[in-house]
Amino acid sequence: MEQRSVKPASIAAQALGWVDAATRAIAPPIHTSTTFVRDPDNQYRSGRIYARDHNPTFDQAEAVLTALEGGHASLLFASGMAAATAVFQVLAPGDHVLVPKVMYWSLRNWLGNFATRWGLRVEFIDMTNPDDVRRALQPGKTKLAWIETPANPLWTITDIALTCEIAHAAGAMVAVDSTVATPVLTRPLALGADIVMHSATKYLNGHSDVIAGTLTAREDSDLWQRIKTIRAQMGSILGPFEAWLLTRGMRTLFPRVQVACAGAQSIALHFARHPLVREVLYPGLPSFQGHAVASRQMESGFGGMLSIRVRESPSGTGEEAAVATAASVELWKRATSLGGVESLVEHRASVEGAGTPAPADLLRLSVGIEDPGDLIADLEHALELAHS
Ligand code: PLP
Repeated sequence: MEQRSVKPASIAAQALGWVDAATRAIAPPIHTSTTFVRDPDNQYRSGRIYARDHNPTFDQAEAVLTALEGGHASLLFASGMAAATAVFQVLAPGDHVLVPKVMYWSLRNWLGNFATRWGLRVEFIDMTNPDDVRRALQPGKTKLAWIETPANPLWTITDIALTCEIAHAAGAMVAVDSTVATPVLTRPLALGADIVMHSATKYLNGHSDVIAGTLTAREDSDLWQRIKTIRAQMGSILGPFEAWLLTRGMRTLFPRVQVACAGAQSIALHFARHPLVREVLYPGLPSFQGHAVASRQMESGFGGMLSIRVRESPSGTGEEAAVATAASVELWKRATSLGGVESLVEHRASVEGAGTPAPADLLRLSVGIEDPGDLIADLEHALELAHS
């Protein structure tokens, strides 16, 4: 497919328009072979030796993502965590890294425990505040600033372009966890980021049936080569069937994300005025703190993720009312994760435990592609039951 002549939605829908060279099939084959035959003169002209780093089923998913992100190259990983931790693992002991206080909790735990014990100097800051970023950067010592935007579970917004400008001036690279924004809404590499990461488990695959992660680099670099090596050596790769499912999932990325954004926006607006809801956290609300930056860096919507803070009931606290609300939904599913076609609700403080920035009365909502009116009615009914 002529990439310059078509929009990203068309690239995604046709997975770059690839047709299998051997059969002319539109759906690609799944390569299960772990090994590849050497040429008689001892060369590997196919470029493939062993499937831990050369599985052909990865190629299409990686190429589609590279095109959508506008990058140099992409790598699939066994999970979002495997992708994210690979970026930190290629740094050297003693390197200083800046990470946000509000971020995906499991990565926050890994950084605070494992990464620190392995010698990285990890500093948690308010990444949404450019002055904090400026203050924390140690020129020559800070190697990486990690951004997540919108960030779990408060959906705080970090200005990618401004943070890149500040970090680059001090010699630090910038990596962005863009799982929630997806390439449909934000293209961090075009805003200056060096690496973009996704938990492909979420919107990229979109059907709650694959655990996967991705990294995309803006350009080739030593860091990128080290990341490639670490994936090959640590073996944190995706299975061929999962890679195939991911390619299939990305074909519908644009319509899924657009429907989820529209649903989230109407759910946010509805509950922002609701007597049983203390606060709605959603970048699409003009009253939300990060709304102005989000309007600039998120292209056609504010994402499918929001949180609501539930008011106390006559008989209990906001936390009790939030847990009771989650207990009473029927259409929404009580489950962790996000970015699937089905809507999920979760009492986030119960999952994250100590150190969570989530208030105890917060419910995290991942809006799927169901009818927004049905989702509103189900949640409203559950809120009323929890307050009766
Ligand atoms: N980043 C974000 C924003 C996430 O929500 C998640 C998972 O919930 C991850 C990273 C980790 O991804 P995975 O579960 O695929 O390892």
